[in-house]
Amino acid sequence: MGNKRIGWIGLGNMGLPMVRNLMRAGFEVTVYNRTAAKAAALRDEGAGLAVSAAAIWEVSDVVITMVSDDAALRQVHRGSGDGDGGGDGLLAGARAGKIVIDMSTVSPATSRELAAQLAVKGAGYLDAPVAGSVKPAELGQLVIMAGGKKETYEAALPVFAKLGKAYFLMGEQGAGNVAKLAMNVLLAFNIQGLSEAVIFAREKGILPEAMLAVVGESAVANGVTKMKTANIVEDNWQAAFALKHLAKDLRLAFGEGLHTPGGIALHDSFQQALAAGWGEKDMSAIFPFLEGKKV
Ligand code: NAP
Repeated sequence: MGNKRIGWIGLGNMGLPMVRNLMRAGFEVTVYNRTAAKAAALRDEGAGLAVSAAAIWEVSDVVITMVSDDAALRQVHRGSGDGDGGGDGLLAGARAGKIVIDMSTVSPATSRELAAQLAVKGAGYLDAPVAGSVKPAELGQLVIMAGGKKETYEAALPVFAKLGKAYFLMGEQGAGNVAKLAMNVLLAFNIQGLSEAVIFAREKGILPEAMLAVVGESAVANGVTKMKTANIVEDNWQAAFALKHLAKDLRLAFGEGLHTPGGIALHDSFQQALAAGWGEKDMSAIFPFLEGKKV
């Protein structure tokens, strides 16, 4: 894929820095975004613009999607057509030898369904969601978990080398999505656990700053506890990764059969926080929710 042309769909918080990395690395990139103004802004930086998802195939051998959720991804594939490959969606323009790489966080079932529809046209599909937020995206330091055929994964490696610091083929179609959901179960454990420990200590007379200083020096410190310590100390819940997204991912994991006790408790906890209005705040806002505070 090294010399080939890349199409990119989805220019949100993650997509924009990722596409910039590919352009810096010398890929010839054509972009499409539902809100056209975000794509137009990239023209000055050298990106080509496509008028629709279908049209992006005219100048791309590989198309990467980075959109919100299952509904958005289906919309991109279906376009305004009827879903049978007509219309202006990705499916309409797909041809033999072309490849879609989806890096959004969606369900494995959606990946399998879209892959099957593309396969009818002879096109390949890789589910390849990422761990890491906006900063790792800017730095090309994401962790990528892929599902699909080995040859499709190997074709994607030159792109992954510019977007990520580590990438793994986890198994068949949907295995990348399953791995991503598993990662976010662990993420939810981390932030819920940190919150519960700090709340318990405070109820026994230890200030959060003091308790977090101990955690930070200990074996249970990690990237999440370090990154979110400032949020708790400063009472700052501005979203880097919104609580509603983590609640969505736990819901997807639950839908996939997550049944172990901690996972069920996490699912319930985050759905309750969502219902209480904390969705637009950072995922670390599970802390004030558990304290019983109001948004
Ligand atoms: P975002 O900033 O909300 O951007 C979402 C993108 O999806 C935008 O380009 C948006 O287009 C597009 N979109 C939404 N609905 C659409 C629809 N119906 N049809 C076509 N396009 C649609 O999201 P993000 O933070 O970049 O996240 C993208 C994906 O990465 C999500 O699945 C998320 O869970 C995952 N992720 C995020 C992070 C993170 O830290 N943010 C980390 C790891 C993984 P418009 O511009 O028109 O709205």
